[in-house]
Amino acid sequence: MGDSFYPSLGNEGYDVVHYDIDLDVEPSSNTLEAVVTLTAVATDDLGRFNLDFHGLDVETVTVDGIQAEFSREGYEMTVWPAAAISSSTPFTVAVSYSGTPQPIADPGVPFATLGWHSDNGVIYTVSQPSGAMTWYPNNNHPTDKATFTFQITVPDGVTAAATGLLTDEASADGKTTTTWHMDDPMATYLAAIYIGDFERHEQRLNSGVLIRDYVPRGSDPSIREALAITPEAMSFLEEILGPYPFEAYGTIVVPFPLGFALENQTLSVHGPLLLQPEIIAHELAHQWMGNSVTVDDWSQIWLHEGFATYLGLMFDADLSGQSIESVMANWHRQLAFSRTSPPGDIEIHELFDFNTVYLRGALTLHALRTHTGDDVFFNILRTHYDHTAGGTTNTEIFLGIVDDLAGPDAVSVVESWLYEPEMPGIESGPSL
Ligand SMILES: [Zn+2]
Repeated sequence: MGDSFYPSLGNEGYDVVHYDIDLDVEPSSNTLEAVVTLTAVATDDLGRFNLDFHGLDVETVTVDGIQAEFSREGYEMTVWPAAAISSSTPFTVAVSYSGTPQPIADPGVPFATLGWHSDNGVIYTVSQPSGAMTWYPNNNHPTDKATFTFQITVPDGVTAAATGLLTDEASADGKTTTTWHMDDPMATYLAAIYIGDFERHEQRLNSGVLIRDYVPRGSDPSIREALAITPEAMSFLEEILGPYPFEAYGTIVVPFPLGFALENQTLSVHGPLLLQPEIIAHELAHQWMGNSVTVDDWSQIWLHEGFATYLGLMFDADLSGQSIESVMANWHRQLAFSRTSPPGDIEIHELFDFNTVYLRGALTLHALRTHTGDDVFFNILRTHYDHTAGGTTNTEIFLGIVDDLAGPDAVSVVESWLYEPEMPGIESGPSL
């Protein structure tokens, strides 16, 4: 796809419309048998095409039900359909495979391995940016979003959870299959599944959104108490960005330390020590900025993390009665002291750099707010979201909206925060 940081992720020549992911998982041995069917449309005449897929043993590949030749090199799987596919034609690819998925190293995430993990009988996935290809074959770039169905078969008594709405549960021969639908477009890295001993707790909000959380069975009540803030955080964010974008939301808390939280679409994963209101609101904010709207190139990640960080800090400040001005002034002092580099011009290893991308990204938005005042600032956030919801964005699109609604001086303020090596000061604004 030509991503600045991951040029070989994603493939040209087709658009995936839907993934049907059917996994039969044996947690005790961490093995699976799977059939994944992609429905796609050719955007070019295709004599062959590639999928991104790492490891596992591929048994067969069919295209429109007819067996196809395939070869594998690294995470590139090349498929030769029996007959060439003409441009604009829909087609299906079914891949049957089995084995034990192996997590991968990603140069953007030096602090963790990505993809499918098994830890003390719990199977969990954390895939941003590249890990999705460790457990299902796909077109691994956020510019090719698709809808998803998950069918997860596990031994009776084991809980399976996935991104989307749970629509069916059936048992036979000592195994239980749950079916999940994600009917809104989703980037490959935002698909996730979890298998283990979890309790499901659900509530329906007045807005109609279903909240379903998963916590380790028998876990300390403080975990559910921490998650109880979610509806309030959702109301806070809906005031700013508009209605929550999906049919469901929830948090799955894993029963072991996880050094981060991750905003899987409709089902964020958190470690048990990362349930502070700011972090819950941060992952929830990503459902708008990151999931419904996703960057079209990984170098633009500040548009996910700067927004989610700022909105999380705003929620926390509101909750604790602090002023956002003093919170941001404190962060500004700390970052200035540590000479934080600009979030608009990062290298791949800085993708999730907390100071550069998260905090200076959040300060970029705060500086814009200070320059424009609240009315214009929140209009910019809402307009940008409405303009890009369900699709992708980048800094140029965002700056175009800043220009339209606040003029070139406001663009200059944002650009100085995004690109100048020295961190700018925060001006004293008109309305704060
Ligand atoms: Zn984030």
